[in-house]
Amino acid sequence: ADIAMYYAKRAGGNTYQYFSGKMTEAAFRRHTMENHLRKAIERNELELHYQPIFNIAIGKFCGVEALLRWDNHELGKVTPIEFIPLAEETGLIVKIGEWVLRQACIKIKNWGNQGILLSRMAVNVSAMQLLHKGFASQVTAILKETGLDPGILELELTESALISDEDSVLEALHDLKKIGVQLAIDDFGTGYSSLSRLKNFPIDRLKIDRNFIQDIEDSSDRGAIAVAIIAMAEGMEMKVTAEGVETDVQLSFLRNKHCDEIQGYLMSRPLPSALIDEFLIKNLRI
Ligand code: C2E
Ligand code: MG
Ligand code: MG
Ligand code: MG
Repeated sequence: ADIAMYYAKRAGGNTYQYFSGKMTEAAFRRHTMENHLRKAIERNELELHYQPIFNIAIGKFCGVEALLRWDNHELGKVTPIEFIPLAEETGLIVKIGEWVLRQACIKIKNWGNQGILLSRMAVNVSAMQLLHKGFASQVTAILKETGLDPGILELELTESALISDEDSVLEALHDLKKIGVQLAIDDFGTGYSSLSRLKNFPIDRLKIDRNFIQDIEDSSDRGAIAVAIIAMAEGMEMKVTAEGVETDVQLSFLRNKHCDEIQGYLMSRPLPSALIDEFLIKNLRI
């Protein structure tokens, strides 16, 4: 039913005809973008960047998050903030998401072969992918194909993915846990998932949204929400990662509060393939 809803948004069919004559600039860009996005994989326009994740207690880099980049000959670089929602609305995210998962798994498998040992590859997954019937078997196939240990793969879901029909979501999450992958909630604190529902879900990690990390320095209540999320994660036996850490002040605050991991420009920006290799070789001291 959720998938049907996504496709229903597209009903009305031919966007071009609908807008013809007086197509607005925004609609035109969207239309152009959709046409290019359809061909982005075959034209080799997609690329993954990787942002290192640092374990504070151990004092070591433990993993990376894969972040999608799109560079199109006509549109130039398009941010995921713009093209991911379009990919979701058009259903293209299912194919694109599969490509992302495969590339990310191949990358960390290759690192392992070179002695670059990380315990996690985090990959963003849209609600539409999660609720797509073939998703769990897609994940299984890619893990088998790449020979990657399932426990190394962590799928990042947003709270909004979890507010769809509870039974379908639970079923999808349990199917994934059966495979052995880790599950995280991304941008935690910005959505509307109630705590009572959250405890029903087999979630391994919360990623604190970067707005709450900024509060550590900017707001009068000094990161109260970040602190509450860390305490809650501990109480629910989940791990916790702070996103968007940019300063030493934020880092020491989070260390004092026993946050497990941090990710952010302070440690590194997301890096393209060759640069992340260099970064890891230098920083893992192999
Ligand atoms: P996200 O998953 O929450 O990823 C973190 C975003 O914060 C990334 O933006 C990253 O570049 C940025 N970031 C990291 N550290 C810092 C920092 O210290 N300061 C600031 N200001 N920003 C920081 P990016 O790469 O533009 O991605 C935006 C969003 O697009 C992601 O947010 C994610 O929701 C979505 N996305 C990216 N790649 C994929 C993908 O492969 N599949 C899906 N479904 N969504 C994706
Ligand atoms: Mg993420
Ligand atoms: Mg996030
Ligand atoms: Mg996000």
